[in-house]
Amino acid sequence: MDDSLATQDWMHAEAAAWKARGLDRQLACVEAVDGDRIRVGENWLWNLASNDYLGLARHPLVQQAASRAALQWGGGAGASPLVSGWSRLHQDLTDDLAAFEGVPAVALFPSGFSANLGAIVSLVGPGDAVFLDRLDHACLVAGAKLSGARVRVYPHNDLDRLANALQRERAAYRRVLVATDGVFSMDGDLAPLPELVDLAERFHAMTLVDEAHATGVLGPQGRGACALLGVEDRVTVRVGTLSKALGAMGGFVAGSRVLVDRILNRAPAYMFSTSLAPAAVGAALAALGLVRAEPERRIRLAQLCRQFQASLGIPEMKLPEFPTPIIPIVVGKADRAMQLALELRDAGFLVPAIRPPTVPRGTSRLRVSLSATLSEDMVESLAMKIGQLQPGPGIAG
Ligand SMILES: *Cc1c(COP(=O)(O)O)cnc(C)c1O
Repeated sequence: MDDSLATQDWMHAEAAAWKARGLDRQLACVEAVDGDRIRVGENWLWNLASNDYLGLARHPLVQQAASRAALQWGGGAGASPLVSGWSRLHQDLTDDLAAFEGVPAVALFPSGFSANLGAIVSLVGPGDAVFLDRLDHACLVAGAKLSGARVRVYPHNDLDRLANALQRERAAYRRVLVATDGVFSMDGDLAPLPELVDLAERFHAMTLVDEAHATGVLGPQGRGACALLGVEDRVTVRVGTLSKALGAMGGFVAGSRVLVDRILNRAPAYMFSTSLAPAAVGAALAALGLVRAEPERRIRLAQLCRQFQASLGIPEMKLPEFPTPIIPIVVGKADRAMQLALELRDAGFLVPAIRPPTVPRGTSRLRVSLSATLSEDMVESLAMKIGQLQPGPGIAG
């Protein structure tokens, strides 16, 4: 494809402006993996940029299950679920997830992103409204827009503002959905779910909690943020991913039978996309078994998070009540975050710099994500290195 087509001039211009603002992004190719280290170019780096929080993606049982599934069922599912892409293996994972989540029904999606799209468009449409936290994941925003409902955004975890908006506007809409991340993906903090659910119930609104960073990590048996905060049975729908702590790929919606049937019948992201690859399904099934059988992974991860925060010098009183494996070090300017990330890379640590539009302007940051398989020594030396770089006052996140 000719890069100099006149019809693409506008793209070159916008790309140059983007670059000038320090927001340009490039792929870094991982050439090899060895435990928690990856090789990028010639350099082996500790990987602090993965969402494989429990180290299950490379667990031998997970890898074997993926290969077995591919050998038995093929490299791809061959069709969408309603056509011929739904196998016994898919059904087994669905049953297992429903039991794990304690819900009547589950819908499997190709990704967590599409699971959120499918869930939201099944719940609301024109004449309705979706209330979103300002820091909600991009796929909740995309789903809300796609649904045709009015999109209202409240400041991060600000339930007073949400209450005011509901008070003013609730009557104007037919149905209302309040959709929030359970654990916020760039800040690692939790949504105030009990209060949020109280509020939604008071205004007769539905609730959706995106458990992407919490499934397998938080709560009893690793069932997520809703389970941790005791609201599992009160939220309308929970969305999870198989792509993070479950070490595979795909997403799911956990809810009532009537909702899941509605998704199967009406959500384009479900109906018109090929069913999950058997290898991903096999891997997720094995990972779910390990989440259940080995709570020590979750416990160790929480301990490492606490240790890391303590080593960073975050005062006790500023520590979050529940540790999560996402630990942001906010530095402010995008170029400063990039520079710090480069210095950490020189020291052998892959820690991503997160810039707008992923995070609001002025809140560019280093985002450390920890995995249960890392050693205490490694976590300690990372904290020391970050301390030496003096990222600034935002060290507490
Ligand atoms: C990663 C993420 C998703 C998307 O999940 P995928 O399975 O990677 O598509 C959705 N929501 C949140 C909050 C996430 O962090």
